[in-house]
Amino acid sequence: MNCVVFKLSDNLRTKFIKFYAKYKCEKTPPYAVFQAKNYDVTITLYESGKVMFQGIGADIESSIWIAMEKKYNNLDIATNAEAKAKNPKDNDIFFLNTSTIGSDETGCGDFFGPIVVCATYCRKEDISFLKELGVKDSKKITDDKIKEIAPAIIKKIPYVCTVLDNETYNKNYHDINMVKLKCILHNKVLCSLVEKYKPDYKYAVIDQFVNAKKYYEYLTGVPKKLKGITFYTKGESKCIAVAAASIIARYVFLKEMANLNKKVGFTLQKGAGAIVDEQIQTIIQKKGKDYLKSIAKLNFKNYTKLS
Ligand code: MN
Repeated sequence: MNCVVFKLSDNLRTKFIKFYAKYKCEKTPPYAVFQAKNYDVTITLYESGKVMFQGIGADIESSIWIAMEKKYNNLDIATNAEAKAKNPKDNDIFFLNTSTIGSDETGCGDFFGPIVVCATYCRKEDISFLKELGVKDSKKITDDKIKEIAPAIIKKIPYVCTVLDNETYNKNYHDINMVKLKCILHNKVLCSLVEKYKPDYKYAVIDQFVNAKKYYEYLTGVPKKLKGITFYTKGESKCIAVAAASIIARYVFLKEMANLNKKVGFTLQKGAGAIVDEQIQTIIQKKGKDYLKSIAKLNFKNYTKLS
């Protein structure tokens, strides 16, 4: 059967649902928010934002929305078979001709050290500078390269960064789920950025660690929320504002870690693996268990399994 799948941008969602309202099905399959049957095509919109067109007319029906993505978002949607050939590494930086704001975080998977979240405002005219500097997903850049290019980014690009230190984390966020905490911190830096720099942006982009619906659910009760965020899987590779934010966040994290290393007297291991477990034992023997409060996230299994 003919089938076309792609991620529909958030700003087209309402339009999409309205467009097929007449053909709406009563029931939707699991993880779908909307389904319609229009002659020879079944159209399904999923919670993740993906849309699927199935049936003989799938190509024609989907082409309407691919054209919309081009018109409204300047996105080139590559479908199915084409997708791999056109975009083998999935590392294109999209939004090439638009000003964007974006945020990214680091430290959430590391037992030792703080959580750092950063938001940047990348104006259209800054894009070539950032590209020349080699700005891309911080996970694909060495620490040395980050230390080299981050100061130049910080000088030129408006940004807001927040550091959640271990002491505060263990006191206030010990029992909060990490996804919710990320939502709160991303929202915080994005709101501060908007307030501080009044950016003239077309898109606000976050790496899709959570879907839009869940994101705003987690922010229930938070007084200030930045609305209209575009969520992208591997956002660091697709939006240069997110990539720049990921580099600044990593840079600040590395600095914080250097301070902790000095304090402890050796280089703390990143992540949450076996070496971390060994280092925990060394620290407990030398300084006592309580000492960990100020340098690590105590709700990690590495720690909770000890008692
Ligand atoms: Mn990320």
